[in-house]
Amino acid sequence: MPRPSALPFEPRSQMTSDRLLETFLDLVRIDSPSCSEAAVASYCADRLAGLGFDVTFDTSAPVTGSDTGNLFARLSGSTDTRLVLSAHMDCVAPCLGVEPRVDDGVISSAGETVLGADDKAGIAAILEAVERLVTRSEPHPELLVVLTVSEETGLTGAKALDPTAVVGDLCLVLDADGAPGGIVIGAPTHYTFAATFHGKASHAGVAPEEGTSALVMASRAIAAMSLGRLDEQTTANIGSVDGGTATNVVPAMAHVTGECRSIDSGRVEDVRLQMDETMRDAAGAEGGTVDIVWTREYVGFSSNTEDEIVKLVADSCADVGLTPRTFTTGGGSDGNVFAAAGVPTLVLSCGMQAVHSTEERLNVADLQALTSLVEAVATRMAG
Ligand SMILES: [Zn+2]
Repeated sequence: MPRPSALPFEPRSQMTSDRLLETFLDLVRIDSPSCSEAAVASYCADRLAGLGFDVTFDTSAPVTGSDTGNLFARLSGSTDTRLVLSAHMDCVAPCLGVEPRVDDGVISSAGETVLGADDKAGIAAILEAVERLVTRSEPHPELLVVLTVSEETGLTGAKALDPTAVVGDLCLVLDADGAPGGIVIGAPTHYTFAATFHGKASHAGVAPEEGTSALVMASRAIAAMSLGRLDEQTTANIGSVDGGTATNVVPAMAHVTGECRSIDSGRVEDVRLQMDETMRDAAGAEGGTVDIVWTREYVGFSSNTEDEIVKLVADSCADVGLTPRTFTTGGGSDGNVFAAAGVPTLVLSCGMQAVHSTEERLNVADLQALTSLVEAVATRMAG
């Protein structure tokens, strides 16, 4: 993705820009694999409480298995509009003992771990942006910071929170890659399935006629499915197949997992139905049966470029010298959960690059630009 080659704006002061970098480095040095976010949560809670936020944790820990609940921090504003700012506190493995290094304006890990910019770039930008708003006494909307646990394990923290606790006029989830200025305006509804085909075992050499191959049913089903990119907004995939016990046994059982996604909520239902029927037809044609368990992982959302919230964020990009780029994604985020709860939601590109790899990196200038963008959105909302 294109990246500004130079600072697109003037950092407000060296002091706040140093503090932002220090905050980010502090955050990535705190271990926070999924389900062990308590230490980073405590760091964030201290910072936010110090700024006057009312900080609470929800009671999701027994559900998520994390050592902390999701963090909520509220601060009243000079208007009755409310801006929700969200990021997730966990990182993907390998993420223990991150040693960040800053080289020529680029932050990376020492190479043995991820950097954790996913999603600590988002957290650092939120902490710095709200500190600037509060300490400069700038007008700002009511602020609700929501930092979730265990996003990387399937949005577990966000799914476990009380949706009525996340209410606002705009929710910005800081959790997309690409240069700041990127605005995710649509993400898919995502279904997964686990299917078990049941046939009948028999000796493959002595009495194959008496057997019914579950693997043949599964193969027949998969061969008849449309998979891959089905259209611009829709995808389908078979993720795994296993079954059978030995070369000389007609396999009585086969397991298949797969998924489908679409930003078009009607289309995803059609594809799900087609995949389901294809598996049932294939099982029936071979004289067997299939059990299929579908799970809706999350619900999609979509805005268009004329929507007020998109224009607000695009104008805020312009305020800080960023070129807004709207796009849709095939992946989900906590934003899907907040949008499903009824909060107008957009996901922002945070500058993180090569995420989920030990090559992960972040430009200091992108972190600064992201922070200024968040500050600009809040200032516009208060105006
Ligand atoms: Zn993330």
